[in-house]
Amino acid sequence: MKYIEPHAHMVSRTTDDYEKLALAGCQAVCEPAFWAGFDRSSAQGFHDYFRQLTEYEPQRAAKFGIKHFSWLCINPKEADDLGFAREVMSLIPEFLKAPNVLGIGEIGLNKNTRNELTIFEEHVQIALDHQLPVLIHTPHLEDKLKGTRLILDSLANFPQLNRSQVIIDHVEEHTVSHVLDAGYWAGMTLYPHSKCSLDRAIDILEVHGSERLWMNSACDWGISDPLAVPKCALRMKARGHDPAAIEKIIHQNPVDFLSQSPRFVI
Ligand SMILES: [Zn+2]
Repeated sequence: MKYIEPHAHMVSRTTDDYEKLALAGCQAVCEPAFWAGFDRSSAQGFHDYFRQLTEYEPQRAAKFGIKHFSWLCINPKEADDLGFAREVMSLIPEFLKAPNVLGIGEIGLNKNTRNELTIFEEHVQIALDHQLPVLIHTPHLEDKLKGTRLILDSLANFPQLNRSQVIIDHVEEHTVSHVLDAGYWAGMTLYPHSKCSLDRAIDILEVHGSERLWMNSACDWGISDPLAVPKCALRMKARGHDPAAIEKIIHQNPVDFLSQSPRFVI
């Protein structure tokens, strides 16, 4: 099996996890900037985090023959204080020069507040200014549909945005059509207890097809499974999907989307 892990928070994972990914056939892992399990106390904390994402994590992945790519932003969970968020965002242009940075992400909404939306839109503008792809986080559970609608309404205010360069992640049964019908890419996150189970993700594929869709483990500091993508591939096989269909969703689709950044070379 050969696959891409398009969304993982490897700073929270062990070296053993890198070995497991390599053994399962992972060629590249992409790490969006996100909450680290605690609120950082200063913009300097984000400076160190961005160095981790652009300098240290690629070296750790390389020891297992895996390419490591990053996305940068201040995540919505820590973006409700406008002054603080803008201080962190002022650091981003310097780090966009790093050779493993693909774009801006994972931006989005957490509690769907007005301030989160303001910072979301300012991030989209950074992506437009630098002609970068965008990776978007949608809120959890009961806030997801409302948050997805707010995000889609907000993005519609950027007519110059190329929708094929935007992926809206953590879609579920009730949000996937909204995202795909508007012309964006959609990501399904395979979690043990929330978001999509393996079977629910495969159900979504069987209903909606596999155009502009990818799957990720979004493994982080919480309960999550870094091998969720290859496990889902095995489950697809058991449910009768042919090898070409499996290869498309776990490898070709991520390559097609991510290759819109010239930095993504595997
Ligand atoms: Zn994430």
